[in-house]
Amino acid sequence: MTEKKESKKVLPGELVATAEEYMPGFGTFEDDGNIYSTAIGSLYLDEGNKIARLDFKNPPLVAFDEDVVFCEVTDVKPSMVVCRIQAMEGTSRGITGETMGTLHVSKISNRYVEDASEKFRITDIIRAEVIQSRPSIQLTTAKPHLGVIMARCNSCREPLDRKGNKLYCESCERTEYRKLAKDYRDVKPC
Ligand SMILES: [Zn+2]
Repeated sequence: MTEKKESKKVLPGELVATAEEYMPGFGTFEDDGNIYSTAIGSLYLDEGNKIARLDFKNPPLVAFDEDVVFCEVTDVKPSMVVCRIQAMEGTSRGITGETMGTLHVSKISNRYVEDASEKFRITDIIRAEVIQSRPSIQLTTAKPHLGVIMARCNSCREPLDRKGNKLYCESCERTEYRKLAKDYRDVKPC
């Protein structure tokens, strides 16, 4: 009987299979007929049970539940945001290696968000809280001090100014929208 087929190393948000062929297992989720990874891991396509899952041999212990982290958004899909964790707030514990975290669309805000790209863009710097640290890092921004702390204009790349609950680019005269942290571009060193 076929056990499982070892496959390749995958990154968070990578398309690993289709829902027609496999069911989402550990470390993966389904969105609109596709199955994506939620972390860095080795992909296993279990042919016997038709499950796509990730395997974590030595998950790096770099963040703990309820840690607050600063990250750069590296990918935005309708259902999730992928980001690279750059630092932790209020601790001297370092980050080792390339540490990715994912933020599910339901964890962006206390209000309903249909599409994560309404609230985040690639290269945004965000403050987020860790709600699950193992086997993969899952984040939330559904608190007032969590969300985008620095964002650049989508067309000219200049930092955007805050205007109420929106962001504005003076040179392009464009308005953009984010899930903002209350201290957007006013973060005090701790
Ligand atoms: Zn601009």
